[in-house]
Parts: sequence; structure tokens; C-alpha cells
Amino acid sequence: MKYISSQTRFCKTLSILITCVAISACVSSIESTQRAAKQSANNNEQIVNNIDIWPVLDIAVKQDPAVETKVAEILAKMTLEQKVAQMIQPEIRDVTVEDMRRYGFGSYLNGGGAFPQNNKHATPTDWITLAEDMYQASIDDSLDGSTIPTMWGTDAVHGHNNVIGATLFPHNIGLGAANNPALIEEIARATAREVMVTGIDWVFAPTVAVVRDDRWGRTYEGYSEDPEIVRSYASAIVKGLQGAADEDFLGDKRVIATVKHFLGDGGTEFGIDQGNNLASEQALFDIHAQGYVGGLSAGAQTVMASFNSWQGDKLHGQKYLLTDVLKERMGFDGLVVGDWLGHGQIPGCSNYSCSKTINAGLDIFMASGDSWKPLLEATIEQARSGEISLDRVDDAVTRILRVKIRAGLFEKPSPAKRPMSGRLDIIGSPEHREIARRAVRESLVLLKNANNLLPLNPKQKFLLAGDAAHNIGKQSGGWTVTWQGTGNTNADFPGGTSIYSGFKAAVEEAGGSVELAVDGNYQKKPDVAIVVFGENPYAEGVGDVKTIEYQPSQQTDLALLQKLRSQGIPVVSVLISGRPLWVNRELNASNAFVAAWLPGSEGAGVSDVLLRNAAGQIAYDFTGKLAYSWPAKNTQSSVNRFDADYAPLLPYGYGQQYGDHDVLVGKLSEKRDGGSIDSQADVVIFDKALSSPLKPILVSDSTEIEMTSNVATLGGLTVRTLDKDVQEDARLLVFSGTDNARFQIRAKQALDLTALNTNSASLQATIKIQKVPEQPVLLSMDCDTACNDGFDIKPTLETLTANTWQDISIDLKCFQRTAAALTTLSSPFNLFTEGEFELTFSDISLISEPGTIQCQ
Ligand code: BGC
Ligand code: BGC
Repeated sequence: MKYISSQTRFCKTLSILITCVAISACVSSIESTQRAAKQSANNNEQIVNNIDIWPVLDIAVKQDPAVETKVAEILAKMTLEQKVAQMIQPEIRDVTVEDMRRYGFGSYLNGGGAFPQNNKHATPTDWITLAEDMYQASIDDSLDGSTIPTMWGTDAVHGHNNVIGATLFPHNIGLGAANNPALIEEIARATAREVMVTGIDWVFAPTVAVVRDDRWGRTYEGYSEDPEIVRSYASAIVKGLQGAADEDFLGDKRVIATVKHFLGDGGTEFGIDQGNNLASEQALFDIHAQGYVGGLSAGAQTVMASFNSWQGDKLHGQKYLLTDVLKERMGFDGLVVGDWLGHGQIPGCSNYSCSKTINAGLDIFMASGDSWKPLLEATIEQARSGEISLDRVDDAVTRILRVKIRAGLFEKPSPAKRPMSGRLDIIGSPEHREIARRAVRESLVLLKNANNLLPLNPKQKFLLAGDAAHNIGKQSGGWTVTWQGTGNTNADFPGGTSIYSGFKAAVEEAGGSVELAVDGNYQKKPDVAIVVFGENPYAEGVGDVKTIEYQPSQQTDLALLQKLRSQGIPVVSVLISGRPLWVNRELNASNAFVAAWLPGSEGAGVSDVLLRNAAGQIAYDFTGKLAYSWPAKNTQSSVNRFDADYAPLLPYGYGQQYGDHDVLVGKLSEKRDGGSIDSQADVVIFDKALSSPLKPILVSDSTEIEMTSNVATLGGLTVRTLDKDVQEDARLLVFSGTDNARFQIRAKQALDLTALNTNSASLQATIKIQKVPEQPVLLSMDCDTACNDGFDIKPTLETLTANTWQDISIDLKCFQRTAAALTTLSSPFNLFTEGEFELTFSDISLISEPGTIQCQ
């Protein structure tokens, strides 16, 4: 098996650059990055910004003189320290209630996968308790003198997705296919209510990215490739979250919305997360800014700055866009929050200090990790020295206070006493689940329906197959309980329904039968097979891919479809995916094919549409239409409505209904263009995350556990996620010296190494030694009899500089028992030591190149 990784990875380090030379796709990507850099340098010389492109918005929430007076009164009494504390947003994993009491931060957040007490199964009551404690600490003036209520921000991006038991709506890509702004407003209203139950004030949604290259790992966070839907949805979501300006604006059941990520996140080159958008200023407005026109006009109170660059400059430092365009020209008077240490990426800045981004117009630093304290101190110092003007600080704090006053934070009771607080019946309520189930129905897009196989008569015998058939985590995608959406089981979704469970309930009620066999090996030959398969969950850059080809190296799902077809069983494919994919082979092997996107916790919405009701009638027809063009070729990751040479397989707006004439008649071409994938023998093991299906396991003599969250401990071994270049792209292994367990990266199914010449290959890893080992460190691989017991890498580690990232390259022969080539591997990386030792790793891969460390 080979693994796909993002293009960027290959271009990170010198040793890897050498690998790139052999890889045509990579070379062309480097060349074009260089070209782009030059082009953008040239452009920068010529670019004359044209503010006239940008409209003055008619913003529904008008400035209220009473609010402005109150802001001014509060501001006048604040010290510089108190003001800067309003501009710092720490994260709950790294800030305590006592820190809040001491400093009085204006806001704080929980990132994806962060929970009160680090407990994934924290109850809504635990969330309220933390909200209440933080609030009380913020208004306690005993230490910092401030009584300004703090506010809590969370990523409720498809429902209140960090909280166990919440209703999970389809991700935005599916909602775009539903093209129903009224439904979107209802979803946002329901999300706001669930968030208010947990005492949280502020939601980091909607994402209004207009996605132009589907290789991007955040494609599913966008509604569409086209600005039309994005603009109308942004307005609907903001109204649903905040309430309409003249009605219950930011009332008891409403939360503050954030339009994100400003600006151009969906238009980066090659779809690289946090990459460079080279659009002209006109295209930046026409395509990428339309969600802001919709969302800000509806009164969104906050905007999140984006990680990406425009014309080579990171948005966090772009005064022209943040201040001149957004605030001054378009008239946005709310606050601009940064994204997760995004300020640290500005040249001349670090996570701990960045006057430049404040001067460019950022009002709040998203100061996760240990950055908040140094950042607070540095910013105070910069304001004292004049590096940041006091007027800029006052403007930032004015905006923050304005939002707080508009949200009623000074008048509302404390989080635990608010009317919605603790209303546990509202989290995952039947009413909200019904809205989600309806959204699932409306998001499904029917791509193929040969001989009108659908709708199905429910009185038949059904087989439900595929690894997404009974897997609520997989059908929900990233940003689901955990940041990546991985490490969850069906038990983590109380009240939720898998796609299989939906079928089972409806079919059995109608008198038919359903059998679940993930691998297709049924007991009872079915009349029809429904195969549910697709992408495993991912979030942000971890989800960047090099190709939109589905299963480019091993077509296991295709084999499943073909196996069933060869037995004369009609097959309905239900594809779970966060992006359109090149699935010509799978389309050919299916009688009917449904794009289900990432439907969330209410899987029964799928059977609602695919089955007739017990009386034999069509209860729900398909209404979903593609909001992303469907690719005809594996290379068409960027095929978008209105392209000059537009030639998708299925165009924007396509979606069959029952009885429609099939467009995909005849066999589709299964020929892959370019063929670069096949020539890449590398096996990526860890690139920002573990490649599927590898899992991180801690193994002791008597037991073993899988690491499913940010930290795992077994005996004396603790493993944690850390940030190297981007979030959670590294793992720290701490061996304490007693009762140490072994760290193992392992897959149930062995990795296929046939494309790699293992007699001339190496294990490459990027590592950092935090504590040198006391005892031998055994590095090994597990395979069949061809693997030896590994070898001691302590002598190698001792040659490395401590606390510095370095690449090591170990010849694969070091792991082989004989000269016979390794062909399969169940665990490519096992590490064990008996003494104290600390090591962090980021990239790990097997590459076709002899290693510099040779063993005999
Ligand atoms: C995500 C967070 C997540 C963090 C992990 C961020 O990019 O947005 O929500 O917890 O990375 O370090
Ligand atoms: C993401 C944002 C998110 C933030 C907080 C970032 O990594 O880009 O979309 O709101 O983390 O979790």
C-alpha cells in the first residue's frame, strides 16, 4: 500500500528535495512554486491596489450611540495591561482559571479536540462549569482590577461538534449541494442553541471559503466552488447564529458568529493549506470575498484572519486587506481575531511577539500553546515603546468591547445562569436531529441510476457493506469530537445513527431484511447491495492530497463492488467524501451511485431517500445538486463553473431525480492521466498525521492501548501531539525510565512494499532529541520472518545535536534478517528503551534510496 501526502511535504527538507528530483509531479510543483514566487515578486512591484473594487457594505447592525458611549467609558478606565489582555486569546489546554483571574483575558478558546479537563467525554455540565469559572475569574477584580466579562469561542462548524451527544449536521460541502438558505438558517439556529446550553458565547463559523482546488484538506468546509451559494449562505448562517439585526439580535439563544478565513483561503495554489493565493484583486473580490459581502452585511460581529498569503504575503500581516479594505472601506466595525498562532508565520514575528499583525489590523491574537504569556508581555512592551500606537490598541479594544456590549455580555447573567444553560434536553434534541436528517436528505446528489435501480423496494433482502456503512465517525468527517475526527467509535455518538442503522430500521419496518457485512461476505445472498465507502476523516492540512483519484494505489473498494457485481448482485454505491473525487472505476462498477459527502450523525437521511416507503411510494426524491463540479479525470482537481475550458464529468448544478434520464451511460474512461502516482514508490508513514490505516499504539507486556487523543500514557511511556510547522504535525515520546512501554506504529493489514525496492531503500525520519537516552534504544520493524529484532540507535542519536530538528536516514537492511527483500510490513516503526529518553518525530517515510546509516 502506498500513501498520499501533501505536495508540500516533499519539498520541506533538503534530503527530501533529493527525493523530489525523481518525482515528476514534485518537480513541477517546485518549479511552479518558484515561478509563482517570481511572478508574485514582479507583481508586487507593479501591483497598485485598487480600493474601488471593494464596496461600502450596507451593514444591518448599525452603530448605536449608547453602545459607543459605554465603550468609551469603559476604555477610559482601563490600564494598558488590561487593554492588551483583551487582545489575547489563550486556549483551554494551556490556560487556567487562575491565569484568567490574574490577567483578565478578553476571550479564550477550545481548539478542536480540546475539552474541559482534557476529558473527551466531558458532559455539557462540565463545559458549563468551565465557562462559569472562567467568567467569574474574569470579572473578579481582586488581582488585575478588571471586571470585563470574558467570552469563550469554539469551532461549532457542523453543529456543536466538540461536545459528545450534540447533533452533527452535514459538513458544508453537503449543505452547498442542498442549496437551501432557509434550511441553513435553521441549522445555524439549532447550532446556536446547542452551543448556548454549554455556556459558550462565540462560534468560529461560518467558513466562507470558495474552494478552487479540491486537493485542499478543507474542501469540505466550503459550501461551493462558486461564490453564489457562499454569499447567500453566509448571510443565512449569520442570521441563524446571531439572530436578525432588528429582531432577537444576540439574544439568549444566539451566539456571536465569525466569518472566516479572511481572505482567499479557498484559492491557494495546488490547494495547499495555508498556501499562497495568486488571484488578482478583482478575482479576490469577485470569487473569494463574496461570503464577506453576505456575512458582514447580515451583521457578523467577528472575522478570522486567514493563514494563507495573498500574492506572497500572509494575511495576518496585510494592512491593506485587514484595515484599508475590511474595516475602513467595507465598514466592518466588529473585531478581527487571528487564527491559531497565525501571527507567528509573519516574517520578523514569532509565536511570542508580533507587533506587525496588530499594526496591520488584527485585534485579537489566537494565542494557543504557551504563547499567551510572552505575547501579552511583548505586546504591552511594544505599546509602551510606540512600536504599536496606543491609538491602535484603543481601536482594537473598542472593537472587542463593542462586540461584547452588543452581545449583552455585561447584562446577561453568568454562563451557568443563562436561560439556555444546562438545558440538556436541547443537546442532540429530536427536533435538531430532525433538521439534520432533513439536511442529509437534501444534500445527497444522485450521479448515476442505471435502469432506475433506485428507489428501492424496502421489502427486499439488503446487504450493507463497506467500511463506512456502520461508522458514524467516518460519515461525520473531521472536526468531529476530535480535531481530525479520528479515534472515535460509534459509542462516541450517543443518539446518532449510522447509515446502516437507518436502513435497518426502515427496511425491517417494511418487512424486508438487512445484513451488515463490511467486507461483503454475506450469509444470505441479497437482492441488492448498498456499499458505503470513501475517505477517512481529516482536518486542515492533514487532509491535503496530491491527487483527487480515489484509492490511487490499492482499489480495495472497487474490488468489493466488483466482487458483488460478479455474483449478479445489483450495487448501489454511497460515497462518503469531503471533496469530489475521480471515481470513474467505481462508477463503472456500480448500478447506482450517490455522493453523500459527510452527512454527520443522522445517517438515516440516506435510507429516507434511497428507499420507497412501506406503501411503495417515493417519500423523498433527490433534490441535491452539485455545488462542486465532478471531475472527469484524475488530474481535474481544479475544474470550476465558468472555467474557459470547462469539461467536468458532471457539471456544477448537476443532480438526477428519480426517473431522470441517466447521463453516465456506457463505460467511463478508467485511464489515469499523468500516471505520476504509480511511479512513486514511497510509503509515507507519518506526514502531519499517521497515514491510514496505520495507528499509534503503546504496548506493554500485559496490555496495549491506541492513542486516540492528544495524549496517551501506558506505564512509563507518554505520547503527546506537538506542533512543529503546523498544528499537531509531530509526536513527543517520553520514556520515564520505569515500566516503559513500546511505541509502535502499526496497521492491521500489512503495508504493501512491492513498489519499493527494499534492497535499496531507507527509513527517513525527522526527529528532535529532547533528552538523550540512558540505555540502548531499540528501533525495529515487524513483518513476517524477514525482519530481525531491530538494532540499537543510541550511538546514532548521540551524534545528533539536542533540541534541533534533524533528518535521519536508516538503510532498510538494518531491519532485515536476510538479504531477501521485505515485501510486507505490519509495523514500520517500533521504539523501545528501558531508561529515560525523550524524542519528538514528525515526518517518517520509507523511500527508494539507500540510507546513510548502514548496518551489517
Ligand atoms: C485546530 C485546533 C486543534 C489544534 C491542535 C488547530 O489547527 O484548529 O482546533 O486543536 O490545531 O493543535
Ligand atoms: C483553524 C480555524 C479554527 C482555529 C481554532 C485553526 O487551525 O484554521 O478554522 O477556528 O484553528 O480551532
